Amino acid sequence: MGGLPCLRRQARRRRGRKPFELSQEYCVRSSKIYSWPSNRREFDLFVRVRQPAEKEDSCRLSLFDSLLISLVQQKMKILQRTQFGNPILRSKSKNVPASFLKTPQFKRLIKQMIYTMRRVGGVGLAAPQIGKSLNLAVVEIRPTPTHPNLKKKGPIAIINPRIVRYSKATIADWEGCLSLKNVRGNVPRSKAITVQYTNEKWEKITEKAEGLWAKIFQHEIDHLNGIVYVDRMTDMKTLMTLAEFKKRAVKKR
Ligand SMILES: [Zn+2]
Repeated sequence: MGGLPCLRRQARRRRGRKPFELSQEYCVRSSKIYSWPSNRREFDLFVRVRQPAEKEDSCRLSLFDSLLISLVQQKMKILQRTQFGNPILRSKSKNVPASFLKTPQFKRLIKQMIYTMRRVGGVGLAAPQIGKSLNLAVVEIRPTPTHPNLKKKGPIAIINPRIVRYSKATIADWEGCLSLKNVRGNVPRSKAITVQYTNEKWEKITEKAEGLWAKIFQHEIDHLNGIVYVDRMTDMKTLMTLAEFKKRAVKKR
């Protein structure tokens, strides 16, 4: 994503206001502001700024920077996470009702969950982890400094998901959880799964997932059923602090 290509502007006539207003749309990622990009899903927040038409010439993106950044800070805060021991992490979540699915509040909840997941460095976040007993999670794979070769996937919202097929073949790999800070454990999971869910565009999806993507789905969908990854561990001796994990397990990988 580079530079600031020409701004997309729309002249709009609005009753009871000045005859014309320009509507400018910006996207914000990590407090950096971009004009309307081709791939909107990459971004944390979308902001529309209205300007009286006569100010068109003096309109410069920099004039809005501080305003937009303050909007981001106000609107997109990192959600508080529930921690291991909280009963909500041990409860079965309820399906998201159809009446809630299309509301602005629900869309906003998804955006805030994605924002929170990214800011705290997670690859998935389930609604019980932010104190909501709903069958909803967000998932994403992004390359990281320690894993630069990861192929980007998502972010997507998985609403009312259900795993309909598990491969018999399993693979054990290390997992951590935003609700169990600074702890890692080795967890066997199915190598591949088939999962059904509704996405944020209300489309019903059936998806085959494998590898890390399948592991993330299994971990997050477990959260919706009151299961945390330590319940899936077969060798509790591998449970260790992050500091020990970095000393021991990372070297052996
Ligand atoms: Zn987790």
